[in-house]
Amino acid sequence: MEFGNKNRNEIMSYLRQSLYKNISKLRLHISCCCLCGNPCQQHPLLCQYCQADLPYFNHQLVPYDLLLWPAIAKIIPIRHFDHLLAIAPYVWPFDAWIGQLKYQYKTEFAALLSYLLIIHWRQYLEAGKANIISNNIMILSVPLHLKKWQERGFNQAHLIAQKFAQHFSYDYQTNIIIREKLTENQVGKSGIERRKNLKHAFSIQFNPQLSLPKQVILIDDVVTTGTTANEICRLLKRKGVQNITLLSLCLALPN
Ligand SMILES: [Zn+2]
Repeated sequence: MEFGNKNRNEIMSYLRQSLYKNISKLRLHISCCCLCGNPCQQHPLLCQYCQADLPYFNHQLVPYDLLLWPAIAKIIPIRHFDHLLAIAPYVWPFDAWIGQLKYQYKTEFAALLSYLLIIHWRQYLEAGKANIISNNIMILSVPLHLKKWQERGFNQAHLIAQKFAQHFSYDYQTNIIIREKLTENQVGKSGIERRKNLKHAFSIQFNPQLSLPKQVILIDDVVTTGTTANEICRLLKRKGVQNITLLSLCLALPN
C-alpha cells in the first residue's frame, strides 16, 4: 500500500487489518484440531478432514428445511416459525462443544460453531432454497434471562448470532426480544408443561415508530421441542413479522 495520499486513520486501519490477517495466519499455523490433533488449515480448532467428517444432516436425504421432514413435523406439531434449519443432530462432537461453551465457558467454541453455521447457511443460499432479501432481513437470537446472563457472563446464542450476522452483513438486533421470566429447566417436561412454563416469559420491545421487518432469522444453539422459539415467534408474528426461519446448530432428536 502507498501511504503518500492517505490520512492517519486510513493508514491505521490498513495496519490493523494487516496485523489481524497475520495473527489469523499465525494462529492457524500453530493450532491443532480439537478432535484429532492434526494441523488446521481453515479454522484454528478443526482440521479439514474432521470438518468433512462431522455428523451433519444429509441434505440429499433430509430437506434443508427440516419442517418438510415428516418425523420433525410430528415432533413439533404447533409452530409459529416457517422454516427450521439445523446443521446436525445433537450428538458428539456438537453436544461436547456446546457443553464446553455453555458450562465450561470455553467461548472459543462459539467461533467454531458460528463458522460451521455460516458454511451451512451459505450452502443453503447456494442451493437456491432461501428466498432471502438481504437488505430487509433481521437476525435475532434467543435471549437469556438477565440473572442467568450474569451467572454465565455471556449468551452462547448471541455469540454465535453476532458472528453469523457480521459475516453476511445482516442487521442484528439484540434488544428486541426480552426474557422477562426466569424459567425452570425445560428438560423432562411435557409439551403442555413447557408451554405453561414459558407463558409470559418473553416480551418484544421496539420503537413503535418503526416496524419490524417481514423476514426474521431467529438463532439458537439447540432446538429440542421448539417450544422456546415458538413462544418468541408467536410474539413476533403478532407484531407483523411474516416469515421466520429458526436457525439452530443442532436439533435434539427424541430417542
Ligand atoms: Zn481433525
